[in-house]
Amino acid sequence: MKTALLTHADCLEHVTPDGHPERVARLEHILHALESLDLNRVTAPLAADDDLLRIHPESYIRDVRKMRPAEGFAQIDGDTFMSPGSVDAACRAAGAVVRAVDMVLGGEAQNAFCAIRPPGHHAETDTAMGFCLFGNAALAAKHALDHHGLNRVAVVDFDVHHGNGTQDLLWDEKRALVITSQQMPLWPGSGRPDETGAYETILNIPLSPGSGGAEMRAAYETQAFPRLRAFKPDLIIISAGFDAHQDDPLANLNWSTGDFAWVTAELCNIADELCGGRIVSTLEGGYDLNALAQATLAHVEELMKAAR
Ligand SMILES: [Zn+2]
Repeated sequence: MKTALLTHADCLEHVTPDGHPERVARLEHILHALESLDLNRVTAPLAADDDLLRIHPESYIRDVRKMRPAEGFAQIDGDTFMSPGSVDAACRAAGAVVRAVDMVLGGEAQNAFCAIRPPGHHAETDTAMGFCLFGNAALAAKHALDHHGLNRVAVVDFDVHHGNGTQDLLWDEKRALVITSQQMPLWPGSGRPDETGAYETILNIPLSPGSGGAEMRAAYETQAFPRLRAFKPDLIIISAGFDAHQDDPLANLNWSTGDFAWVTAELCNIADELCGGRIVSTLEGGYDLNALAQATLAHVEELMKAAR
């Protein structure tokens, strides 16, 4: 089965002000890099409110819709903006992960990558932040647990920033293991090792500014992978942010494109061992356009190698 690629043109209609790092060109560069690959290309549906209600209260979903500007921009916080196309883009992003979970659990694909924006891992229960409106990775987890009846899912977040939103949304979800590595110190400031969730199902892995691939690999080999193997998830969800890349302007880790391939291949091996290779990956950050495109390509190529 081919790796599924879920995306939608609406995700290009979420526009941010000039100079904003989370820009339309990010997704354009990624789609161009993936253009020649032999993927099962799927148009992402709009998430229904019933999907979003798995992770956000109705009042928050209504507020997001209300904040959508008729023209220009609405500023949500210091760095989170909405344009007229943002609600549809965010609903396509959330719809992509829901459909990806359905495909992977329904046997239509062994693994899937959602090339979407806005990203999701900073959106908390009732707070949009850090370029994110809806918590896509947490939604994927909840959909797999509550709709498909899985017993255990794991979210692995290798974005350079802490997945504070995913942590918040899954804080008291004992069926979900959340493993998130992040540069520390760095915005948003959370993600200390003593943040372990209501049921000890959250593993925060801080990485020092200036550290590189060797430190990352050691941290994943000694902390993340043993924890995954002990938890035995039925599905692995990846929050795939590529801003730990050495060329990224927003952070100071020094991962190479090969490091992203390595961590992806290792996660594919573990998924193979534990849950029939089932992985749903969704795009988070990554702000150097070329590094982002190359690292995403390496990530998707590893998913493809693992798909049978
Ligand atoms: Zn990030």
